[in-house]
Amino acid sequence: MFNLILFGPPGSGKGTQSDKIVAKFGLVHLSTGNLLRAEIADKTPLGLEAKNFIDKGQLVPDEVVIGMIDTMLEKHSGAKGFLFDGFPRTVAQAEALDKLLALRKTSITKVIALEVSEEELVDRLLKRGATSGRTDDTDESIIRKRFSVYKNETEPVAGHYKALGRFESIKGEGSVEDIFAAISGSIEAGVTAAV
Ligand code: AMP
Repeated sequence: MFNLILFGPPGSGKGTQSDKIVAKFGLVHLSTGNLLRAEIADKTPLGLEAKNFIDKGQLVPDEVVIGMIDTMLEKHSGAKGFLFDGFPRTVAQAEALDKLLALRKTSITKVIALEVSEEELVDRLLKRGATSGRTDDTDESIIRKRFSVYKNETEPVAGHYKALGRFESIKGEGSVEDIFAAISGSIEAGVTAAV
C-alpha cells in the first residue's frame, strides 16, 4: 500500500492538490474536514457537536476524528492506498493512525508538507470564504485562531514523521500545476524507494 499524508496549514492547497493526487495515483482520499462538513450538512449528532468546534476555529476532539478514520479504513479495506488530508492534526492522532495502520499490516509511506507564508494563507482563506460559504473562512480572527492551533498542536506532528525519515517539504506557492508536478515527483520517488 502507498499511504500518503498531505500536511500543511489551513489554506496551503491540500484540498486542491488532493483532488489531483487521487485522480493520478488512485488513492482513496480521506479528508477529515470534508467528512465533518458532510456530517454537519446531514445534521447528525456528530456533525452538530463538531460544528461548535469548527466555527470557533478549534480542533474537533481526537476520539471523534480517529473514529471516523477507523470507519473509513474499514470501509475501503481493499484500497491500494490512502491520502490523508487534514489528518493527523495532533500527535495523539498521529500515534492512533500508526496503530490503526499497523493493525492492517501497513504504515505511512510518506508525508508531504506544503509550505506557504502566513500572509498568503490569510489572503487565500478570505478569498475562499467569500465563495465557499465556509463559516470558518470568513472571519479573520477565526482564521488567525486556526493558525495558532496549527502552530501549537499540528506542527509537532511533523516531528513525529521527521523522526521516521518520511517527511518532505515542498513550496506551496506558485501555480497549481507546478506544485502538483513537484508533489508527483516526490510520490514517484517514494514509490520507487518503497519497492
Ligand atoms: P479543514 O477542512 O481540514 O481545514 O478542517 C476544517 C475544520 O474541521 C478544522 O478547523 C477543525 O475544526 C476540524 N477538523 C478537520 N480535521 C480535523 C482533525 N484531524 N482533527 C481535529 N479537527 C479537525
